[in-house]
Amino acid sequence: MSLRFYNTLTQKVEDFTPADGNTVRMYTCGPTVYDNAHIGNFRTFTFVDILRRWLRASGYELAHVMNITDVDDKIIRNAVARHQSLEDYTAIYTQAFLEDCRKLRLEQAETLVKATSHIDDMVSAIQRLEACDHTYRSDGSVYFRIASFPQYGKLSHMDFSGNIAGARVDVDEYEKADARDFALWKAPKEGEPAWETPIGPGRPGWHIECSVMALRYLGETLDIHAGGVDLIFPHHENEIAQSESLTGRPFSRFWLHAEFLMVEGQKMSKSLGNFYTLRDLTEKGHAPEAIRYTLASVPYRKSLNFTQDGLKSAATAIDRLRNFKLRLETGKFAEGRNDQLSERVDTARRGFRESLDDDLNTAEALAAVFEYVRDANSAMDSGEFRSENAANALTFLGEFDEIFKVLEPSSMDGDIPDSEVDELVAERTAAKKKRDFARADQIRQELLARGIILEDTKDGVRWKRKSS
Ligand code: AMP
Ligand code: ZN
Repeated sequence: MSLRFYNTLTQKVEDFTPADGNTVRMYTCGPTVYDNAHIGNFRTFTFVDILRRWLRASGYELAHVMNITDVDDKIIRNAVARHQSLEDYTAIYTQAFLEDCRKLRLEQAETLVKATSHIDDMVSAIQRLEACDHTYRSDGSVYFRIASFPQYGKLSHMDFSGNIAGARVDVDEYEKADARDFALWKAPKEGEPAWETPIGPGRPGWHIECSVMALRYLGETLDIHAGGVDLIFPHHENEIAQSESLTGRPFSRFWLHAEFLMVEGQKMSKSLGNFYTLRDLTEKGHAPEAIRYTLASVPYRKSLNFTQDGLKSAATAIDRLRNFKLRLETGKFAEGRNDQLSERVDTARRGFRESLDDDLNTAEALAAVFEYVRDANSAMDSGEFRSENAANALTFLGEFDEIFKVLEPSSMDGDIPDSEVDELVAERTAAKKKRDFARADQIRQELLARGIILEDTKDGVRWKRKSS
């Protein structure tokens, strides 16, 4: 079976290949940098990361663009309140976002672009829309007339006919029942930053930025456009209306949307106050990779309930994989190969790949890995593993980790460095040789208190960090 995705536009699961050669042209909506992102936002960005990694593992190259929304109603409100320029204000949260991405091991898009660097492009797109009668002006603002785009509603599968007669909206986010003419360009309000442009002073609406940056960097028709489900309406519906009115061509072939991260039955969101940032969780001692694992472990089209227990199970699951890896790396195996075990790893690999090909079914992909780890561990217990089997198992773990990226422990603030652990382990071994068991025990306890677990094996001492 080949790679396939559920396409919000067609409401079907469809085989995916890029339209043009081997490169996937993809646009994802980035953060609005008015505050620190919460881990609900990062659920969507983690889905995008798994998507990127799986596309690449499937042999494709990526041309991926993500925007940073650095001008919008909330940003302006906060920057004005703090007497900061938009640039100074958004720089803080852009940096924080990129730092969180790094900690969560989210790859950066090939092209990361700021809305405010594309004001001229947006103005000229609005002029072109004006020239073909898709817009009207009112009080210095320019609105997109949705009645001029008969396919309006095709992404959200809403029939807006009879409901689109000229009501308009100035805010960027509004309810689905309210199909409204939306602002492309907003007239300046007292005390707000504005750009002087040929279409008058003001600032862009949110929706036009994504259309303009996607068209500029990726051409008229994208292979994939992705984001969270809350973006389907109005944001992505509006992007389609603008872009297709500009080009006369389909804006994106595939539309992929991630479901929400929930807390006690409600969407995690700033406005409900039920959110955690990455820092909130790492300060409580949770490792970023446990958070990444949690966010990635439920297939993206299912909503994911966030709990502390979920984070703990993620840490346990990662531990299990690390222990397995350590065993493979440090165990002594007889030369050669056990054929049955070679077939077992091939079956696991097939299961892993087929699951990810199936609209990124991460839960099943993980199940294939853990079933294999269980079988391989018992084969090692009973001495059936040979050196080639161990090498194959490590290759498969490497393939798994190219996508899930959780095996390497993050260094947490206050962690004891590897070199210091090695020294203490050597001192403990020397103490044991001298039969100074009290000292040896003291070192074990000290290391444990600092998050290091020692294991005495027949091949010597192994140590690892406790995952949180
Ligand atoms: P924003 O910074 O508000 O523009 O949101 C950035 C991304 O996070 C968008 O793709 C949203 O759809 C997504 N998002 C916001 N809240 C959640 C949530 N609770 N679960 C998953 N994705 C979310
Ligand atoms: Zn967007």
